[in-house]
Parts: sequence; C-alpha cells; structure tokens
Amino acid sequence: MAINLPEYNSIKQQLQSNNVKLVAVSKTKPAQDIQALYNLGQRDFGENYVQELVDKQASLPADINWHFIGHLQSNKAKYIAPFVHLIHGVDSLKLLKEVNKQAFKSNRIINCLLQVHIAQEETKFGFDEQELLGIDLNELTLLASIKVIGLMGMASFTEDTGKVRAEFKTLKTLFDKFSAKLSAINQPLSVLSMGMSGDYKIAVEEGSTMVRIGSLLFGARDYNK
Ligand SMILES: *Cc1c(COP(=O)(O)O)cnc(C)c1O
Repeated sequence: MAINLPEYNSIKQQLQSNNVKLVAVSKTKPAQDIQALYNLGQRDFGENYVQELVDKQASLPADINWHFIGHLQSNKAKYIAPFVHLIHGVDSLKLLKEVNKQAFKSNRIINCLLQVHIAQEETKFGFDEQELLGIDLNELTLLASIKVIGLMGMASFTEDTGKVRAEFKTLKTLFDKFSAKLSAINQPLSVLSMGMSGDYKIAVEEGSTMVRIGSLLFGARDYNK
C-alpha cells in the first residue's frame, strides 16, 4: 500500500480543527491507492485528466465525490457531466456555458469553482480580478444547470513563503468581493479551494475552505510510467 497513513491522519486533524475539507488528489495513482484511502473514510478525490477520471469512476465505489481539478477542455465536459461532484478549474465563461449545457443533458446541476489567476507565472490558467468582477450576473443567472459556489487558485511554485502567502491573501480578498457581488443574485460563495502539498498550511491560515493534496498522501508522482 502506498498511502502515507501518519501524514493522512495528521492532515485530517489539522483540517478538522479549521473546518477545511480535504480533496485527496489521486491523479496518476492506481485505483487500489484510492480504495485504501476510501477504506479509511476518505470520500473526496481529485483528478486532472478526463479519461483517467472516467475509468476510475467506473471501477471505484459509487459514493465517491469526484472533483475535477485539471484544465477542462470544453469538448470533454460531456464525459464527466453525468457524475462529477465539483469542477474546480472553470477558467472561462465559454467553458461554464458548455458545462451548463452538458449538466442540463444529464439532468443535473453541477457545482463549479471559477479559477483565478493569482500566481505570477504566465502558464497558469484562470480569470484575473477585472474579468472576475466584470462577469455579468444576468448572464450567470441564465445558466440554470450550473452553480458557481466558489473560487480556486494556485500559488506560485516557489520556496518564497511570503510570496505564496501574499497570493493566497489576494485570492481571499477577491473571494470576499466576488461573494458580496453574487449575494445580489442570492448565491454567496461557500468554497475557497486553495492549498496543495507544499503550501496547504499557509492556505489554511489565509482562509482556505478546501485543500487539494496529492503527493503528501500518495507519494511523488511518476509521469513516465
Ligand atoms: C496535482 C494538483 C494538486 C496536488 O498537488 P500536490 O502537490 O501533489 O499536493 C492540487 N491541485 C491541482 C490543480 C493539481 O493539478
């Protein structure tokens, strides 16, 4: 078994006292590792790749809450719409509309997080502050098969914890602003998804309500297998 049990217990304990939800990020890891953590009571798992998620969903317990945390291409939304619990990385209105369409076809309402670009690196996807606060609420209201319940962001990959903390603070401030704006149409935000293996402690201190942790639980990933 490749689960780091002491680490899992320690993380669970820290998160429980802060009321933060753990999404166990299982991308590239085998179904047995997910099952092992499931057997310990873990129900929320995160995946980045559509095909891998579809395969795992079919072979693992039906009561798992599957989080899609990767970059979702519009033309692939249809494959996960029938079962996905929460989509973290919605980075455009175009994608939000496509998820809405596929959710409608599956007769579901799919919860979504809008991804915000907080890191300085150019490679990260997401809305910037101006785009986020500029979203037309009337347009959002028309999308009846999705619900925007929060924001997601990734900090820079750096040893500079001051920089990471500042980026999380920026995201929390934006979360509060956007939430206040959305309360006009009766849906304040409830989920702030920020924090990974290397920075989740800082994220929790800065107001995260959901962390996405992979390598601390399952070990380092090998993409060349
Ligand atoms: C892979 C991934 C994670 C987990 O990363 P770790 O550093 O292994 O905890 C979290 N969030 C996103 C968006 C990811 O792609």
